[in-house]
Amino acid sequence: MSYSSAISLFIYELIATANYIGTPGKGILAADESTGTIGKRLSSINVENVESNRRALRELLFTTPGALECLSGVILFEETLYQKSAAGKPFVDVLKEGGVIPGIKVDKGTVELPGTNGETTTQGLDGLAQRCQQYYTAGARFAKWRAVLKIGPNEPSQLAINENANGLARYAIICQQNGLVPIVEPEILVDGSHDIEKCADVTERVLAAVYKALNDHHVLLEGTLLKPNMVTPGSEAPKVAPEVIAEYTVRALQRTMPAAVPAVVFLSGGQSEEEATRNLNAMNRLKTKKPWSLTFSFGRALQQSTLKAWAGKEENIPKAQAAFLSRCKANSDATLGKYEGGASLGEGASESLHVKDYKY
Ligand code: 13P
Repeated sequence: MSYSSAISLFIYELIATANYIGTPGKGILAADESTGTIGKRLSSINVENVESNRRALRELLFTTPGALECLSGVILFEETLYQKSAAGKPFVDVLKEGGVIPGIKVDKGTVELPGTNGETTTQGLDGLAQRCQQYYTAGARFAKWRAVLKIGPNEPSQLAINENANGLARYAIICQQNGLVPIVEPEILVDGSHDIEKCADVTERVLAAVYKALNDHHVLLEGTLLKPNMVTPGSEAPKVAPEVIAEYTVRALQRTMPAAVPAVVFLSGGQSEEEATRNLNAMNRLKTKKPWSLTFSFGRALQQSTLKAWAGKEENIPKAQAAFLSRCKANSDATLGKYEGGASLGEGASESLHVKDYKY
């Protein structure tokens, strides 16, 4: 195996970490919003974007009784990796004691590709190996890098597909050389009026290019995870049933995604909490070939009703934690195809979380 010398030290750990994250019944909480992005979330509930409030929100999530049992990983922003609970325990230890693996966002956001119609590439390869080493020492065992593609009359361009696939592959092998399982995230934005067929076609083209690049770069597929968009109609097109989304999404994966990869951890991409859960549930109910586990790595769709219930007030913490636990359990059930509905206790569970041209 040509990759073994570069990552030999970590091969078994990478495979074990990736498999653990894909454990049926569990999934990932994406709590890695950058300081700018979390600021937008906090301002929506009139809370100031200062370190103490960012810490308080993350503590509320990580210490929700029962929630960690539904999770196998949490993606952190660098600031949170080094923060502690009010009781003085590092968040990394809070998670590990709850059986949850800490992960870290390592990309540095997107920049425009000149000469394209607003398409982007993701930055952050410079110094990445050193940062991975520091994050490993701090307790992280997996990483996330978000590449963004969009659907338009001529988009995604071949340039954007190639550039983003290659960037994901470089990021993935650097992570593996330093002991972190890379989450490979080629997000095709939902923005637009295209139909589900168009999204399926683009998703298949992008995933095929991504796996070609990962193989060319000698990435150990067994030690990776895929974080794709679900295949849906565009945000300005009529909606379709979860069963239809499930069929198109699983078929796109069957056509492009190697069985060597242990798990798919979907992003929610602006779907409401309830939509994201129902779609995931429908995929897990589908009777067809599925050699990977299908689970979640939701940001917005795990936190929206919790944020609203909290509103930055100490006295609301129990209510907010109840909302978070309800979403965690619903998504845990959805990974088993056992979600029966009824988790929409929280205000905002059915509300669309779509933001055009979303930056994470
Ligand atoms: P959403 O689930 O809010 O799309 O975010 C997940 C994520 O981590 C995007 O990179």
